Amino acid sequence: MIITKTLEEIELMRESALVVSRTLGMLAKEVKPGVTTKQLDQMAEEFIRAQGAIPGFLGLYGCPSTLLTSVNEAVVHGLPTDKPLQEGDVVAIDCGAIKNEFYGDHAYTFEVGEVDPDTKKLLEATKESLYIGIREFKQGNRVGDIGYAIQNYCESHGYGVVRELVGHGLGKKLHEDPEVPNYGKRGRGKKLIEGMTIAIEPMINRGTHLVKQLSDGWTIVTKDGKASAHFEHNVALVNGKPELLSTFAYVYEALGIVSDEEKEFRQKEWVR
Ligand code: MG
Ligand code: MG
Repeated sequence: MIITKTLEEIELMRESALVVSRTLGMLAKEVKPGVTTKQLDQMAEEFIRAQGAIPGFLGLYGCPSTLLTSVNEAVVHGLPTDKPLQEGDVVAIDCGAIKNEFYGDHAYTFEVGEVDPDTKKLLEATKESLYIGIREFKQGNRVGDIGYAIQNYCESHGYGVVRELVGHGLGKKLHEDPEVPNYGKRGRGKKLIEGMTIAIEPMINRGTHLVKQLSDGWTIVTKDGKASAHFEHNVALVNGKPELLSTFAYVYEALGIVSDEEKEFRQKEWVR
């Protein structure tokens, strides 16, 4: 059952999403060669609690950490470890937070030092596909239109689109209906309706779309060992159009990136 939200609830969800956005911005400055993902996890937990929120993943489904940190061939659900990040790695950091009972849940794939150009291209295309998917989250469309747009774009670049893990409705539960796959057929699936709040999260591989789970019971890696990228935003359907609740603005500020890619998904002036 899809649980739509009122405008007041959507504003609360924006607060939850922004707790995560700020956390990703803080982490952007800390991701560098030599740091361990366990250290990043500790920083994130403290930072989330300092904002009057609680870590959203910790303890959920038995998750032992605040962050899920997926390095190189890890797609998603990587557990933080004591292994230092190395120059040339990419690390997808997925973070959840609960504030006012609502979840925020979003992710960014960071470059550690200098990354090879082909992997950089994968990251750029995956992030682009996220916005291409968000653009389809509008009145009159169906869930399949989002997946179709993401799949079509990524496969046209020769990348593999992960099937086993999907985006989802978001609210007082981390995973609500509907599932939002990153593949699909135009005009298929559930109707997109006013007040829906979802997480769109393409997981895209440089090679095969096939994945497997490691023996830790968590980490999902690519079957061919090639790199994978993951970007995730939280979006509400307001006035028939996608309204972005999360933002990469804090990450961009930390990294000195200038971008107006989020502008078209804001129906009102965004205030920090
Ligand atoms: Mg997530
Ligand atoms: Mg998610």
